[in-house]
Amino acid sequence: MRRLGCLIVCALLSCALSGSAQPSPDHDVLFQTSTIDALLAGVYDGTMSLQQLKQHGDFGLGTFHALDGEMVAVDGTFYQIAADGVAHRVDDEMLTPFAAVTFFEQDEKRSVKEELDLAALTEYLDELLPSQNVFYAIRIDGTFKYVKTRSVPRQEKPYQKLVDVVAHQPTFEFADVKGTIAGFWCPYFVKSVNVPGYHLHFIDEQRTRGGHVLGCRLQNVTISLDITPAFFLSLPPSPKFRGGSFDARGEKDLEKVEKDRE
Ligand SMILES: [Zn+2]
Repeated sequence: MRRLGCLIVCALLSCALSGSAQPSPDHDVLFQTSTIDALLAGVYDGTMSLQQLKQHGDFGLGTFHALDGEMVAVDGTFYQIAADGVAHRVDDEMLTPFAAVTFFEQDEKRSVKEELDLAALTEYLDELLPSQNVFYAIRIDGTFKYVKTRSVPRQEKPYQKLVDVVAHQPTFEFADVKGTIAGFWCPYFVKSVNVPGYHLHFIDEQRTRGGHVLGCRLQNVTISLDITPAFFLSLPPSPKFRGGSFDARGEKDLEKVEKDRE
């Protein structure tokens, strides 16, 4: 009996340690800190450490304290794409004012050999998503004929609104580059909280350059989807967030912030 008890305990322990014998339900949660409306309004002070954020995912995107570049997380490594387009691995002590992460566990996979631009890619993904009303983590690995990205420069106080910052955003173009796009589909009902639709960040294969995707042309890639039917929103404790009023922004601001203007 005692031996059997030990076996059961050992089995439980090894299951807990290996962690991934079966996908844990907690891994199918999109975890987010702060809201897109707060970011649009200039709430750029970081309130959550990267160490805390990493407890909730190994894949995702966001930005850093004082809007200091674009965040992209792939395979558990978090990168900061600075205003010069160069990627740096980030320290656990760094803070984020806005980020969304999940533990990426592939549910769907497609090989795509056709050349698709960003509009064609979104049409392709629209067909692929089983429902518009859940979240998806989207990962695209392979060769890109072209990628256009942007980053954002670190801001000084008093912070400008995001739409004014991105009016002067540095952009970068990559040709015939291998790399990874990491991002999300969010349902339309999350507007004000996150970016409805697709939000994609890019990092090259060497993990040296990237940014927020404004345009791309796929060449030969694998598209992986992680269906994510749950959402957890962590609200910052900062007075700027708690005392802010975020109901006045126009949806046009978000459009200008997220998409290319050409
Ligand atoms: Zn972005």
